[in-house]
Amino acid sequence: MSADHERLAGLAERHATPFHVLDCARLDEAADQLAGVLGTLSRETRVYYSVKTNYLPFILRRLAARGMGADVVSGYEMDAALAAGFDPADIVFNGPVKTEAELAAAVRHGVRVHIDGEQEIAVMEQLAAEAGHPVEVGIRISPGVPVSTSSDPSYRAQATATALRNRFGWPVGSAELARVVALIADSPHLTLTSVHAHLSSQIVHEELMLRAIGRVLDEAAQLHRRFGLREVNIGGGFGVPGIRRPRTGPLTALWAQQGGIPAQDEEPFLDVARLLPAVDGLMARAGLDGVALACEPGRWLVSDAMSLVTRVVSRKELPEARWLILDGGSNVAPWAGTGEVHRIEPIGRTYSSRTSTWSVSGPLCYENDIHASAVDLPDDTGPGDLLCLRDTGAYSLGRSNNFIRTRAAVVAVDGDDETLVWRAETGTDVFLLADPSPQPATDPGVEPATEPIAPARAAAAPVALAAGTTW
Ligand SMILES: *Cc1c(COP(=O)(O)O)cnc(C)c1O
Repeated sequence: MSADHERLAGLAERHATPFHVLDCARLDEAADQLAGVLGTLSRETRVYYSVKTNYLPFILRRLAARGMGADVVSGYEMDAALAAGFDPADIVFNGPVKTEAELAAAVRHGVRVHIDGEQEIAVMEQLAAEAGHPVEVGIRISPGVPVSTSSDPSYRAQATATALRNRFGWPVGSAELARVVALIADSPHLTLTSVHAHLSSQIVHEELMLRAIGRVLDEAAQLHRRFGLREVNIGGGFGVPGIRRPRTGPLTALWAQQGGIPAQDEEPFLDVARLLPAVDGLMARAGLDGVALACEPGRWLVSDAMSLVTRVVSRKELPEARWLILDGGSNVAPWAGTGEVHRIEPIGRTYSSRTSTWSVSGPLCYENDIHASAVDLPDDTGPGDLLCLRDTGAYSLGRSNNFIRTRAAVVAVDGDDETLVWRAETGTDVFLLADPSPQPATDPGVEPATEPIAPARAAAAPVALAAGTTW
């Protein structure tokens, strides 16, 4: 057993499964690596961590303490970022919908808004006029070209159509973009200082990403000549090697239905140590000297810093299928059933070297609660065994829900320290919302609950359920 597996299995003696484990060393390592790459570039750089990717206050505080900025896409994320200690001047507010109250809060705190709806311009102009000082804004634009590809032409056609229809930002070179820019230029209290684009998530095709960013930079260079920009922000979306996304379209599905075996494309590896210097060079060539390069990574920073530890509850061998049924389902690993493939590793003991092909599901009484329909795992895997699902750092906590079962805890491991940084949800928590009396607002700066786990839950029997889910 590897040291890592041993440590994960040890945690399962003290915490009821399923739970996520946050590896602080891995988080720090990723942040160091990114800072190292950015430090070699020819211009000023900024990193805005994408809060929606994982809003765990423990992570937010740790990244804020390093001097990182934050990218938020809602008012409550902005509150969380401020409470975690991010400098308001290093927070950018993105997204297709920002309420007037949210925009007012942004102006009050000095958080920069990236315009992504025409109606935001008049609201921002009025807020800035009321504040009595000019307010800097950014604008979101889109390159109109796909950032992923596949050997399946029907996938490529879909990706092209999606890139053209993209509702985030305005397309480069379009009359619509020119109109919105003119509206900002005509607003006496607004100053356009940044251009923003965010292309997609889990992008692995470096060439395509650079081509798309090149189009963004050409547009930014034109705006720079008119307005004198401070920053170009290329967004996040940097792909990680621990996840595979199906990049197939209807043709592959049809072919498979006819009994064909669809080609599995090699998934390329996107290297930020290559990508970011290339963007730096493109910026120089486009005439963006003196303009800072910003990015908004989420997944790339946190993906493999978190894993889900879950237990096999049931092994069901049927004439046509062999199932391992776990206590951790798609409500805590929300990509399950969407085809995104994460590694599943047996941990906690020495297993048989013989493997067989298993289907692996979660516990939910719901058809799509499936982690894998065919994966090789040891022959002797069965009830009580622990499995680890890798790369749960991105888009698990915030997207998890209490459909049928409640949300999972997060335990942070930092050297020898082990801290509960997000407790498991109980049924009582769920039904708190049925009480119409308003709850007190969280006081910014208050530490999240880190109380030790109650002994009854800590002593995890092989198939223990979280407290409060027993009815
Ligand atoms: C979601 C999002 C990100 C982060 O994307 P990742 O794929 O997690 O890196 C960055 N910027 C914006 C505007 C986003 O909406």
